[in-house]
Amino acid sequence: MDVDGTAVTQRLRELPGGPELLAVAADYGGVELVGGAVRDILLGAVPRELDTLVESDVQAVVDALVERLDGEATVHERFGTALISSPVAQIDLVRARAESYPAPGALPDVRPGTLEQDLARRDFTVNAIAVALGGDGAGQVRATAHALEDLQAGRLRVLHERSFIDDPTRLLRLARYTSRLGFEIEPHTAELVAQALTAGALSTVSAARVGAELRLALAEPEPSSAIEEMARLGLLQAIHPALDFDGSVVRRALRLLPADDGRADLLVLASLLLELVVGDSGAARRGRSGSARGGPAFQLLSDWQFPAPDRDRALAAAGTAAGGELTAELSPEMSDSRLYALADGTPPEGVALAGALGGAESEQAAARWLTETRYVSLAITGEDLLAAGVPQGPEIGLRLDAALAMRLDGRLDDGRDAQLRAALEACI
Ligand code: ATP
Repeated sequence: MDVDGTAVTQRLRELPGGPELLAVAADYGGVELVGGAVRDILLGAVPRELDTLVESDVQAVVDALVERLDGEATVHERFGTALISSPVAQIDLVRARAESYPAPGALPDVRPGTLEQDLARRDFTVNAIAVALGGDGAGQVRATAHALEDLQAGRLRVLHERSFIDDPTRLLRLARYTSRLGFEIEPHTAELVAQALTAGALSTVSAARVGAELRLALAEPEPSSAIEEMARLGLLQAIHPALDFDGSVVRRALRLLPADDGRADLLVLASLLLELVVGDSGAARRGRSGSARGGPAFQLLSDWQFPAPDRDRALAAAGTAAGGELTAELSPEMSDSRLYALADGTPPEGVALAGALGGAESEQAAARWLTETRYVSLAITGEDLLAAGVPQGPEIGLRLDAALAMRLDGRLDDGRDAQLRAALEACI
């Protein structure tokens, strides 16, 4: 594949942050566009951020970019990296480095290196292409062996035999790129995946790093396809034997998920936990309150360091779907008040999963909940009951619940007076 580096720099000029990056690169030598940015530009796509490599004084380049972009820099000294964020662009900066792995799965020891060494430490050949942005050699392309032909063929290939053993998170990255780019895995790389899994490579990585890669996969535009690829490669099972992904259930659940407040990432995550939650008899109840403590699914999400609100919501969704009652009862004949009693307080992802687990009729009932029933409310509040003489305390809630059940089942219209009367007269 013939790559025109000047075309890459021209395209860069049209991207947000590109002109500023090129201007800084012209002032300081040794600034190159690398990684996902070059890959995506050569594929005709828009890179998510501008991956930039600096062979010279990183701090000077960071300062110049911060000034030109009116941005902020987050610098990680240990890895010689910096992220420059501005309202217009994100620039990921790395100092050219060489790496060695003190132990399989551990974070690498990093030292300053050359551009060639930096390309050689990368995960896949298609990410190991660099285009010089400034100086005499501007537009010059440098790439590791096979990189350009692999990019043209749509192929993911590791750079060396020990790649997955040194850093098994690359196995998870492989699944993510396969799904996002629609690329194939080069046959020998596929053999190395199998060998790494047989050798138990993923067990050498900390749960926090596995969690970070899972979050990246779940943040993809199509999280279910990234996770499905992980399942197909046997990665999920290697992470935890009880993790399971059922693509057909998840696809049906995603179709039920409301666009406004549904979270596809958490639905996919919850679906992975179904088997773990089934064995945890109290999970549905505890999950529903969002405060599940203990239990293997809770432990796993905590070890993966999911933020507590996401962890609790995924757990609640899994608990609802696997916990039984709602999944078992969802049917077109189910009354709205029963639907309310079982589904209220659970996240939409849980109801969508419960619907998908039960087949077409359950899906219909789940859709009814998600699009209509959950929005039904009363025209009166507890204040109205207090004003009518009901004493402060649990009786207020019970009377409101009774009136809501009547309203849900069509036995009460939306007039305030009728609702107040029904609440006051309800047998509780
Ligand atoms: P995205 O489009 O998701 O941002 P990216 O390819 O830019 O994808 P990043 O996670 O931003 O991915 O990483 C930037 C570059 O750093 C990658 O292209 C890759 O070359 C390199 N890289 C990241 N993680 C690893 C790793 N674990 N091992 C080797 N190289 C890595």
